[in-house]
Amino acid sequence: MTIKKNYIAGEWVEGCGTSHNINPADTSDVIAEYATADAEQTKAAIAAARGAFPSWSLSGIQLRSELLDRIGQLILERKQALGELLAREEGKSLPEAIGEVGRAGQIFKYFSGEVLQLRGEIQPSVRPGLEASVTREALGVIGLITPWNFPIAIPAWKIAPALAYGNCVVFKPAELVPGSAHALAEIIAEAGVPAGVFNLIMGPGRVVGDTLVNDARVDGISFTGSVNTGRNIAAAAVGRMAKVQLEMGGKNPLVVLDDADLDTAVECAINGAFFSTGQRCTASSRLIVTEGIHDRFIEAMIDRLKTLKVGNPLDAGTHIGPVVDERQLRQNLEYVEIAKTEGGNLVFGGGRLQLETDGFFQQPALFINTTPEMRINREEVFGPVASVIRARDYAHALELANDTEFGLSAGIVTQSLKYATHFKRHAQAGMVMVNVPTAGVDYHVPFGGRKGSSYGAREQGSYAREFYTTVKTAYTLA
Ligand code: ADP
Repeated sequence: MTIKKNYIAGEWVEGCGTSHNINPADTSDVIAEYATADAEQTKAAIAAARGAFPSWSLSGIQLRSELLDRIGQLILERKQALGELLAREEGKSLPEAIGEVGRAGQIFKYFSGEVLQLRGEIQPSVRPGLEASVTREALGVIGLITPWNFPIAIPAWKIAPALAYGNCVVFKPAELVPGSAHALAEIIAEAGVPAGVFNLIMGPGRVVGDTLVNDARVDGISFTGSVNTGRNIAAAAVGRMAKVQLEMGGKNPLVVLDDADLDTAVECAINGAFFSTGQRCTASSRLIVTEGIHDRFIEAMIDRLKTLKVGNPLDAGTHIGPVVDERQLRQNLEYVEIAKTEGGNLVFGGGRLQLETDGFFQQPALFINTTPEMRINREEVFGPVASVIRARDYAHALELANDTEFGLSAGIVTQSLKYATHFKRHAQAGMVMVNVPTAGVDYHVPFGGRKGSSYGAREQGSYAREFYTTVKTAYTLA
């Protein structure tokens, strides 16, 4: 088996070790072997990025716009093959995987145009005869650390704005999904990125990630992943005064009110809680349902859950693929046990499934009669597990929705303009969804949360420039 290499200073280079990329739907299927870097190799990538920065940051927006357009085009042309690779290494269903790849392509296309929109300001000075201008410049070398649940879209939404605004990149993907990252790096190289501007370093977080976070030559860290790792990264980055941006967990509520359209409520809950195997930071893990619709909603949810097929992501007709790995599956099963012990009533699924191939399959789980203080309603599971909390009325539902340390996405299903408007204003979340699932967002508007979910500037859309640029104020005596 050939080893897929790291990309440093415009060269494909062997790592210091290798890792096997295993298909979570069939553990006998090894996708490929990937290089893993050590601290020294990571430092070489940082040095390459540092060396490329002076000319890249001054290269001009036309050249960068064209590069991003080519990358976006190549991704879109290879959507099917990249989607198959993604589904095979991460486990989401093929349509979801192809959709994610399409989104990655659109993100590069978007930033190809967005970089042409970069504007400054000229203002009269308060001192006569002077003029003040405010412009934005590239931040420098950016370390990008990404999770396994969106193996190409999350890297794309960090790499595209980083390159667009003239930064150099050292990209460290999650260990479980080097395939999509490597394929993306191949496309970026093929599109003609200058040597050193973009570097791919695969390997363990505590070695490669840690080196990136602590190296003084890295000006900014953009991280998406777990709360604990995020906290440590923020502390280290702030300690050496690097810019840092974090996207972490969620415990996102979906409120269903008495006046909701039942089909809309069920589709929002099923999609939000269980699609992509529940492995989304925007997943609806808490279903907060008012009394008048509660029993009808549960009955309809169970009927709908019975129609979902858990299986191989590449099979047509599969709705839910496997959990990403054994460790995550064990954690999900543990949470099912914890919820039962704490008094939750499991009305559907929850167990491990044995299918024809040896994989990490789990039946989606639905709990009812849960209370806000249960761990199932406080901690992010990151699997196909949802719990219903009964609410007396809208005011109670809103209070329950906001009763969490997280604040990424919050949804409501209602036909009342009054409640929808009130919820949009009072939900303590970075993103609010009315009659649509809590997961599923556009790429041209900001993505991010409040409280324990996010830290630093927003990602995506024109707001991405806040993180990837630094502001300069200049005074000229005319
Ligand atoms: P998960 O538990 O979902 O894998 P992590 O937060 O552990 O989430 O991983 C998200 C990303 O952070 C991955 O790319 C991982 O390799 C990286 N990472 C893990 N530990 C560290 C660390 N100590 N320093 C920097 N990056 C890390």
